Amino acid sequence: MDPIFHQRRYLIPFRSSLLPQIFTDTLIIGGGVAGLRAAVASAKHGDVIVLAKGDFKNTNTAWAQGGIASVFDERDTIQSHYEDTLTAGAGLVDEPLAEMVVREGPRLIEELFSWGMRADRDASGKLMLGREGGHAHHRIIHADGDATGAEVQRTLVDKVRSLTTDTSGGGAGGTGGGGGGGTVRVFDKCFALDLITPNDQPGAPVMGAITHHPKHGLQMIWAKATILASGGAGQLFRETTNPPQATADGCAMAFRAGATLADMAFTQFHPTTLYLAGASRSLITEAIRGAGAYLLDARGHRFMLDVHPLAELAPRDIVSQAIVRQISRQSGEGVSLDCRHIVGFEKSFPGIAAILKKFGLDAGKDLIPVHPAMHYMVGGIRTDAFGRTDVPGLYAAGEVASTGLHGANRLASNSLLEGLVFGEITGTVCAEMKSNGSRTATGSGTNGTGTNGHGHIGNPTSSPISPSGFGPARPAPVPIVSDIRPSDLGELDLTDVRSSLRSAMWKNVGIERTGQKLSSVCEMIDFWARYTLDKIFDDPSGWEVQNLLTVAALLARSAAWREESRGCHLRLDCPTPLDTFLVHDLWQRSRQQPITEPVQTIQAHPRPLTAPVLLA
Ligand SMILES: Cc1cc2nc3c(=O)[nH]c(=O)nc-3n(C[C@H](O)[C@H](O)[C@H](O)COP(=O)(O)OP(=O)(O)OC[C@H]3O[C@@H](n4cnc5c(N)ncnc54)[C@H](O)[C@@H]3O)c2cc1C
Repeated sequence: MDPIFHQRRYLIPFRSSLLPQIFTDTLIIGGGVAGLRAAVASAKHGDVIVLAKGDFKNTNTAWAQGGIASVFDERDTIQSHYEDTLTAGAGLVDEPLAEMVVREGPRLIEELFSWGMRADRDASGKLMLGREGGHAHHRIIHADGDATGAEVQRTLVDKVRSLTTDTSGGGAGGTGGGGGGGTVRVFDKCFALDLITPNDQPGAPVMGAITHHPKHGLQMIWAKATILASGGAGQLFRETTNPPQATADGCAMAFRAGATLADMAFTQFHPTTLYLAGASRSLITEAIRGAGAYLLDARGHRFMLDVHPLAELAPRDIVSQAIVRQISRQSGEGVSLDCRHIVGFEKSFPGIAAILKKFGLDAGKDLIPVHPAMHYMVGGIRTDAFGRTDVPGLYAAGEVASTGLHGANRLASNSLLEGLVFGEITGTVCAEMKSNGSRTATGSGTNGTGTNGHGHIGNPTSSPISPSGFGPARPAPVPIVSDIRPSDLGELDLTDVRSSLRSAMWKNVGIERTGQKLSSVCEMIDFWARYTLDKIFDDPSGWEVQNLLTVAALLARSAAWREESRGCHLRLDCPTPLDTFLVHDLWQRSRQQPITEPVQTIQAHPRPLTAPVLLA
């Protein structure tokens, strides 16, 4: 990687003592399923601030369609859900962790129901469970047909708002509780630029974040514990199902703060998004193929029958790869989804029917043009079974994290589940930072030691944050100075850099990768980074491009390093999975090559992991 990626600790120059100061016990960056669930858990032991860079509606969570996977059918078992998760993960799932997540699922979903979440049920009130690719049973809980995520988001926003004291977007010296805690402040349009540490040394604890709000400007938010729940990275690619906010900020800021990222090569592509000029790449849920839709080539032939015994319901990566191959065989002509024979389409999939209508399409009469798109970031910030990163005071949950649940590929509808489970775990465990940073949680880490096996998790007993809560007009606990000399290189067309990067990522790090394409894109990214990362920007559009470049460089490097095909990572030049790559690849600032970490097996760790929430 170009040295420029390792040079900057912060995106902007600042002096902490000159900025407004806000104090809290737990800072949560992200207001999707993981961040909101973490807020409910951490409000039990202190004051909380939750940030979202947009509003609290536009999250990947709110856009989720299919549902949440969990065991509710009496014929289904935790063992079966666990085994399906392992199969999808193609050898890289950390087994004790996956067992714990699927076991915790039913309890956390019942809890959502108790908070008012609606789900689709039959006339007798029984859950109508869907089935998606890779699942051996019907186990997908859904709401309003294809609007599950919006219902999950609504339920959690309502729950968090019931604990909320202030939604003004911050402002130093704002109101708040203190002492015993339990209050939540929710700041929307508040962009986290960087995690703050007292110095630049390895092991320096995270003490909150520097943020930017359009009304309040730059602010220092000091926290005893910081949970990154900032979602995915879909905007790295030209074609994506993700909302505009998914710009990989969390991975980039964690990398700058010294945290380890893992398995970055693994990005899941969804096979079917609406492909019309001028339309956003709306997801056409797998449930539609589950309901019997066919994929047709340009001649009207159902080509998936020639590819896999499960035809359209083959694993997502197989379907995505088959579509790309088919498009290339027919010289760029597209493929389409045929739903014309599905009875009651509009009733079962009202959201998608409404989107189609906007473009004059009727699923009962017309073929729907579809194309694969980047959907889910499998890699991310490496955590242990408690959501701890290897930087003291920093936790990660949801899509931004790499917990080991998904391995080399995500089983459909396992990510909302992961967000719920790790939201609760991180929100609970981070209480350990309150008593001067001592880690008090019980249970074992993924390797049974309380660390995640790739480094010592320090104990920042010298944390200078006062335990007395927050209040007006307090000085910065430690002076942090970021000195960056303004670049003398010329002006920049940011929109052009962003769109060039997204196109290059789609072409070279997309569904079909080769060593040659990856090494040329690494050079391209380094070149763009040299004259983009040296700049100082004053609004999110510039910071997002800097974050995208950083994570793109890591993703392409990880894909180049992994000279095999596994899960959702397809290397045309190395088509076979190799035992030498049955490891997690870990990436850290100031290192050119990854460290590797063995995959955790149940055989090696026969004692089941116990979710700390049950012990708290
Ligand atoms: C179209 C679509 C359909 C999907 N369908 C399903 C499904 O059916 N089932 C399933 O399990 N999964 C599904 N997924 C995946 C799933 O929705 C996500 O993985 C999951 O919701 C991620 O939750 P999260 O809490 O980690 O992040 P998100 O829900 O994306 O929330 C991220 C939050 O972080 C905030 N943020 C980001 N950067 C910053 C910053 N710099 N400063 C401040 N705030 C920041 C954002 O504003 C947002 O509030 C789908 C995804 C998409 C896009």
